[in-house]
Amino acid sequence: MTNELYAVVGNPISHSKSPRIHSLFACQTGELVEYTAIQAPIDEFSGTVRHFFERGGKGLNVTVPFKEQAWTLADHRTTRAEKAGAANTLYLDQENELVADNTDGVGIVRDLQNNHGVALKGLKVLVLGAGGAARGVIGPILAEQPAALTIANRTVAKAEALVRLFAKDAGATVLSASGFEAPDQPFDLIINGTSASLQGDLPPVSANVIGPATVVYDMMYSLQTTTFNQWALDNGARRVHDGLGMLVEQAAESFFVWRGVRPETAPVIEELRTD
Ligand code: NDP
Repeated sequence: MTNELYAVVGNPISHSKSPRIHSLFACQTGELVEYTAIQAPIDEFSGTVRHFFERGGKGLNVTVPFKEQAWTLADHRTTRAEKAGAANTLYLDQENELVADNTDGVGIVRDLQNNHGVALKGLKVLVLGAGGAARGVIGPILAEQPAALTIANRTVAKAEALVRLFAKDAGATVLSASGFEAPDQPFDLIINGTSASLQGDLPPVSANVIGPATVVYDMMYSLQTTTFNQWALDNGARRVHDGLGMLVEQAAESFFVWRGVRPETAPVIEELRTD
């Protein structure tokens, strides 16, 4: 039996941990999966995807900067991808048509709930950022029925647009938008979905959003404590987590979408931490 071919597409891509994560999943489950990394030229995403599937490829993950293009390119989208406005998972259906899915949102919710014991129901949640990553997590967070969800962003209009987009999914959750400076009360959970940390910057949010019970989650991950998480600890947060678990959980969900087999994530997260 031969391995079936999967890959992650991005630009740049050499830093990607996805090949390592998926090869650990394949070893663990015995699935015949070969997973590589493909750097697509910036203006050649659709050609790269077409070529991959023409060669018999079974599934693709998509990362920066192509997630929106993957969403546009697909013939069909899952409900969660439709709402996220971006796709990180592609495959062909039985009619050979391209399907786009998004597993990032479910990834963060599983990491929070299963790996860190943070049940979202009834919590007061603050999401910082209104870009692709933030948009992808809003729907899955709302599905867990937090008491309140505030989306704060530098460009307030983008946070307001997300509130309009998700208003119907909010149910009993109080959903609101603001700039970074406005929130002035402690939240139970703060999720940093801005890319400020990538430059070592902090979103200019008041330290009053952190109380002694606050859990902080930075979607970014690094070997050292991220800039945002260090700021949160310095201001008295109870616990901080980075986005490595989210990365592994979204990968596990993609693996499940493609193979129908759900790998165990805890040993893989552990392994990556010690790499
Ligand atoms: P986008 O470019 O789509 O959005 C960036 C967001 O950050 C916007 O809200 C933007 O505000 C804000 N922002 C950028 N720079 C600053 C700054 N200096 N100060 C304050 N706000 C800033 O990026 P993504 O949403 O795709 O990614 C965001 C982060 O999430 C990245 O760090 C990425 O690595 C991480 N991520 C992690 C994943 C994981 O699996 N762990 C998965 C996906 C993403 P404005 O709207 O005003 O421009």
